[in-house]
Amino acid sequence: MKKLLDLGVLLTASVALISCSNNTTAGTDRVADNKACRDNPVALQVLGSGGPIADDHRAGASNVLWIDGKARLLIDAGSGAFVRYGEAGIDFADHDAILLTHLHGDHASGLPALLNNGAFANRSVDLIIAGPRGNDQFPSTSAYLDSLIGKEGGALRYLHPYLEENDALPRLTVEDIATDKSGLQTVWSDNGLKVEAIAVHHLDVPALAYVVSANGKTIILSGDQSFLSEDFIVTLSKTKPDLLVMHNAITMADGQPRGLHRDPKSIGETAAALDAQTLLLTHHMQRAIKAQNEVNAAIAESYSGPVLLADDLSCYPL
Ligand SMILES: [Zn+2]
Repeated sequence: MKKLLDLGVLLTASVALISCSNNTTAGTDRVADNKACRDNPVALQVLGSGGPIADDHRAGASNVLWIDGKARLLIDAGSGAFVRYGEAGIDFADHDAILLTHLHGDHASGLPALLNNGAFANRSVDLIIAGPRGNDQFPSTSAYLDSLIGKEGGALRYLHPYLEENDALPRLTVEDIATDKSGLQTVWSDNGLKVEAIAVHHLDVPALAYVVSANGKTIILSGDQSFLSEDFIVTLSKTKPDLLVMHNAITMADGQPRGLHRDPKSIGETAAALDAQTLLLTHHMQRAIKAQNEVNAAIAESYSGPVLLADDLSCYPL
């Protein structure tokens, strides 16, 4: 068995909003936006720009990094990412790694559907899945994978060949990254592409941000993080990322009572501290979208660079 089925067909037309603004509607002019992502040396495409509540009408958090026309990195796989993934015309065989920031459902619950999809891909190389180590509240990334596709009890254990040495499916290497260390930890690097992780504070959830360097560009994906993520700012101060992706989940009025997300003022301070060339807001929730003017004003108190609002499938060439 080389693959479970022969797919490989449906990877042509797709999505795109070359936008860089929030005035586009997912589904419009998809071919053009996908082309923009494929035709640039480095481009970030937002597959899911929403949060955990369905009323935002967006897929859950998920991003893909296109490098030289290939979707080499997938960062998070929230609910609904499966549909956007197909619309974006992504080939699972192009992935070097899938990076999970943390194991909240709006970031990780789409993974089983994408692994199922991957069983149909013509893969030839192994695939890394990286994410945080667990704690007493959350499983490690490897335990999560085991619960999904482990041979002895995984709910989708028919996919267990992913985890074994055989020729049925390309093997998954699962990497649990420490969240009790400060500073950058190298996840993987190869041929001009480097992925590093840094632990961030997200209440009681083991959580990571990722720093990706590719073709001379740097993209920082904050993941969900609170204002208590001081090491994130100290370690990455003045790194001048070409694109800083942060999460637009709460307003100033919501504040930080539970330490889950940075409020807009803290987002602005973070973008300024890192000297981000461009700030991209995603993980939108209705409460923040409804107060976007207030959010923008709070960010502008500290950060004067360009602020973009992601939509599902929007593409950001660098
Ligand atoms: Zn979260």
